[in-house]
Amino acid sequence: MTTVGHLINGEIHDLGERSQPVYNPSTGEVGAHVALASKETVEAAIASAAAAFPAWRNTPPAKRARVMFRFKELLEQNADKIVELIGREHGKISHDAMGELQRGIENVEYACYAPELLKGEHSKNVGPSIDSWSEHQPLGVVAGITPFNFPAMVPLWMYPMAIVCGNCFVLKPSERDPSSTLFIAQLLQDAGLPPGVLNVVNGDKEAVDTLLTDSRIEAVSFVGSTPIAEYIYQTAAAHGKRCQALGGAKNHAIVMPDADMDNAVEALTGAAFGSSGERCMAISVAVAVGDEAADLLVSKLKARMQSLKVGAFSDSSNDFGPLITAAHKEKVQGYIRSAEEEGAVVVVDGRDPAVSGFDQGFFVGGTLIDQVKPGMRCYEEEIFGPVLVVVRVDTMQEAMDLIDAHEYGNGTCLFTRDGEAARYFSDNIKVGMVGINVPLPVPVSYHSFGGWKRSLFGDLYAYGPDAVRFYTRRKTITQRWPSSGVREGAQFSFPS
Ligand code: NAD
Repeated sequence: MTTVGHLINGEIHDLGERSQPVYNPSTGEVGAHVALASKETVEAAIASAAAAFPAWRNTPPAKRARVMFRFKELLEQNADKIVELIGREHGKISHDAMGELQRGIENVEYACYAPELLKGEHSKNVGPSIDSWSEHQPLGVVAGITPFNFPAMVPLWMYPMAIVCGNCFVLKPSERDPSSTLFIAQLLQDAGLPPGVLNVVNGDKEAVDTLLTDSRIEAVSFVGSTPIAEYIYQTAAAHGKRCQALGGAKNHAIVMPDADMDNAVEALTGAAFGSSGERCMAISVAVAVGDEAADLLVSKLKARMQSLKVGAFSDSSNDFGPLITAAHKEKVQGYIRSAEEEGAVVVVDGRDPAVSGFDQGFFVGGTLIDQVKPGMRCYEEEIFGPVLVVVRVDTMQEAMDLIDAHEYGNGTCLFTRDGEAARYFSDNIKVGMVGINVPLPVPVSYHSFGGWKRSLFGDLYAYGPDAVRFYTRRKTITQRWPSSGVREGAQFSFPS
């Protein structure tokens, strides 16, 4: 059985360290093992990045971008293989994995635009014979730590932009589905990236803590759950590093009585159950305004869910696949049980779906829970499974107050035909990414991605224009070339 190793200084290493199994969640079988890097291994990766930095920093941005152009082509040529690797270890169905990869490629396309993005600002004659300009300089060695649920896309949010900005990178992907991430990093080597500019270390807390405390790491980008995001942010900041740490979510969709109910039901079904709800932008709460709208919504969702197809990643006719691990399946089942115990009504129960031929897979079917109230565990906590809860309120303001009071603020959506209500909602809601009749308002690559409240720790969002700000440091230079023979005496007042 293969062990997924590390990419250090352009070569794959398996150093015989600790390892752990990687499952195929559709079958429940172990498909590979993943190496868990020791402190020394991570330090070797950091050293390789630090050694590559001086030459890479001075490589013209257009040449750096050219590597990204070739990388994009290789990603497209190898798309089927990447989709297969994602499916085998994550469990998502090929159409969903292809969508993830496409979104990742769009971030590489944006990185190709770096020479334009890195242009500074110039002012001539800020004083007699004095010119001044600001430029974006790379930070040095930066690190990324990524979650299991987008093993291709989330790393591609980070290192293409970090690298075209002139930095060198150490990536620590999720240990639960490492193969597609490592394969994609090798494609970037094949595209002509010099050894050491991108390193990948697989591992767990030991690897992460080494990255967070090593003085050679200048900045850390993290995506994962909120408790870990908070830990990463605090530890990185305590060690003097720039940090952006994106966390978990509980995304609400408000369904107004005037909404196109059939469209809302289709949109909610895809957004709640796609990828088994293992998306930080999944809609996990539907807030129905008025009992009449709530009854109609619940009955239509229930009917729509009869045709949901959960199954193995290898059958592209399935709507969604298994959860990532057996432990996560039990956790999701526990949330459904707790909802019942706390007085909610389980309308569609997906706890034990029959998936013929895949008895040992980690499947949970689509689940709909009505009469949910704030304070219940299934409402307060991120379930990260194919579970949609319905909360009933009387007014849109009540729905907005609920959303604003929740600890998370990643994404939200309003289904309505009323433009005035939509404008009021998008202007005032305390959430970072807002959809109007768009259930998954994931920003395209030339806008930046980030939530509010406890969904993001740090000041700058992921990818897009914020990535240039995060992965560079501004320097402002003021320069005088006096005409020959002109002498100025000492000036004791502040220069103006
Ligand atoms: P996770 O927090 O368990 O793991 C994320 C990363 O942190 C992994 O690389 C993991 O190895 C590392 N890690 C885990 N425990 C650690 C510890 N104690 N110390 C140091 N490092 C540790 O998250 P996950 O289960 O892989 O991913 C799902 C979570 O990620 C969900 O909460 C989801 O909402 C969130 N997510 C957020 C976004 C976003 O953009 N806001 C995007 C995708 C996923």
